[in-house]
Amino acid sequence: SDQVLEIRGLCVDYGIGADAVRAVRDVDLTLHRGEVLGLAGESGSGKSTLAYGLTRLLPPPGVVSGGQVIYHPADGPPVDVLTLSPAKLREFRWAETSIVFQGAMNSLNPVHKVSTQLLDVIRAHEPKSTAAGRLARAKDLLRLVGISADRLDSYPHQLSGGMRQRVMIAMALALEPQVVIMDEPTTALDVVMQRQILGQLAELRERLGFAVLFITHDLSLLVEFSDRIAIMYGGRIVEEAPAARLYREPLHPYTEGLLHSFPALHGPRRELTGIPGSPPDLRAMPSGCAFHPRCPKAFDGCDEQVPVLGAPRVDDPARAVACRLHPAVAPPSR
Ligand code: ATP
Ligand code: SF4
Ligand code: MG
Repeated sequence: SDQVLEIRGLCVDYGIGADAVRAVRDVDLTLHRGEVLGLAGESGSGKSTLAYGLTRLLPPPGVVSGGQVIYHPADGPPVDVLTLSPAKLREFRWAETSIVFQGAMNSLNPVHKVSTQLLDVIRAHEPKSTAAGRLARAKDLLRLVGISADRLDSYPHQLSGGMRQRVMIAMALALEPQVVIMDEPTTALDVVMQRQILGQLAELRERLGFAVLFITHDLSLLVEFSDRIAIMYGGRIVEEAPAARLYREPLHPYTEGLLHSFPALHGPRRELTGIPGSPPDLRAMPSGCAFHPRCPKAFDGCDEQVPVLGAPRVDDPARAVACRLHPAVAPPSR
């Protein structure tokens, strides 16, 4: 099938019972084979929670409270990741999906050389390989992420943050994954580094064929490097479209606001306005459309009706939006 990961109706809560807050609400999202899908939204919109939830790596008190995450292996029948046994889950993580989480570059072990750590991962993935074979593979992997082989003898502290992050990507690629998930922190100031990494991932997937879910608050990066973009607000996906179309013609007022928060890539400068107000409080979500208190286009009923994500045009099923200005005429394409 063309789809590698199908997220259906995913809900994630922090806490249980009366204290629970829902951080991911009924998310449907499909990752296609070999594509780069970008996920953007302000801090607190639920991007990391979604990534941890779908990989079952949620730290407590996080719990997946509903939905399915269907993974389609290159061969064999699809599996629901959320119902896998612990043993099967380990195998799945190892073999199929590599996750490079925010701050991952700090998870390299400071007391071991890069070579030791990379060779360990390769040995775990290819137990029958020879030492010479593993070394050659390690050098190849570093080269793939643009690091020269003589860096193998370095300790993590001898590398820049960007290089450490790329070592983490090399380790992820050692597993020959079908899916790479990158979660970049909103607080990271180094957009130059994010840019390099996303550019490199986009290029590598052309050669290696994996799909990428890249999470960032920086929509301009995604416009440049991803095939499709999904926008998250208050735990929901509010818009989804091919990158170029989302940039040219955003439909959701929140997407428009995000696009006006960064300078135009090409063409005339536009005014940077940002989005007034602040993201919703999970404990007191606004009624109706969660964006209505900040929406410059809100109209009668927006504080009552929750807009559903769907295709606004029959002839354009690849895009979906959850806004009453663009009522769904068809479900989003799968
Ligand atoms: P950022 O861009 O800052 O990384 P994000 O989109 O990744 O933000 P999440 O970290 O997924 O957002 O957080 C989503 C919501 O869940 C936030 O409102 C956050 O306060 C809440 N949250 C996250 N972790 C916990 C936790 N351990 N307990 C309670 N609430 C949490
Ligand atoms: Fe704005 Fe209403 Fe659309 Fe929500 S549904 S984004 S409040 S116009
Ligand atoms: Mg996050």
